Amino acid sequence: MSDKPLSIPTATISRLVTYLRILTNLERSGINRTSSDHLAEEAQVSAFQVRKDLAYFGRFGTRGMGYTVLTLRRELQRILGLNRRWSVVIVGMGRLGQALANYRGYSESNLYDFDIKGLIDVDPDKVGSSIHGLTVQHVGDLEGLSRAASVDMGFITVPVEKAQEAADALVKAGVKGILNFAPTVLEVPDDVAVEQVDFLAGMKRLAFYILNPHLKDLKDDDA
Ligand code: NAD
Repeated sequence: MSDKPLSIPTATISRLVTYLRILTNLERSGINRTSSDHLAEEAQVSAFQVRKDLAYFGRFGTRGMGYTVLTLRRELQRILGLNRRWSVVIVGMGRLGQALANYRGYSESNLYDFDIKGLIDVDPDKVGSSIHGLTVQHVGDLEGLSRAASVDMGFITVPVEKAQEAADALVKAGVKGILNFAPTVLEVPDDVAVEQVDFLAGMKRLAFYILNPHLKDLKDDDA
């Protein structure tokens, strides 16, 4: 029987991304070894939480000796899939879609590479226009584009009432991950992952924490 976990908390994955950033910074500073105590301090969680998060994926480091920064950084990169190139398409080239298409921070040398391969819209005034060297294509061309560019992920930046339609088009085109900026829950097959991005939800949480400063934003699972 496999000893791989059947499910992993989303918060653990978010923390792995944080640990990877900390390790990358340590490596850049020429530091070769670290400990769960140090990772915990930097990530503002407990050392127990760091060990618990890593334990989902195997045994790392040596008891009492900590971790080799380079090895753990590479392991986390491999676990997160951030050691390869990911092809991305943006569906909806309005204000937000254009801002995302113009963003230049999707790659980091020796780390991840999210490559924007296609821009999609339905508006005849936008289809055919060019943003950062990419031509906006009609949603009808999404399947062909996805096949040609082996698209892995799609951003949804269409009006909320069109978001499910955009998701259906991405699924039909074989895309396996959707970053949904539209404020709605999407229905997708089990083998398609959806991540929701909502800055207004962040503002609402912030309003709560400003009004309740005594309630600490606990970052540990069980704290
Ligand atoms: P916008 O109206 O400027 O742009 C929407 C674009 O989608 C238009 O170019 C339109 O032609 C295109 N479109 C419509 N139907 C389409 C379809 N079926 N396929 C492809 N393209 C289609 O809107 P915006 O201000 O850029 O906002 C886009 C979305 O992002 C909205 O749902 C908005 O609520 C959301 N939003 C989210 C956040 C966040 O933090 N998550 C922030 C801002 C906006």
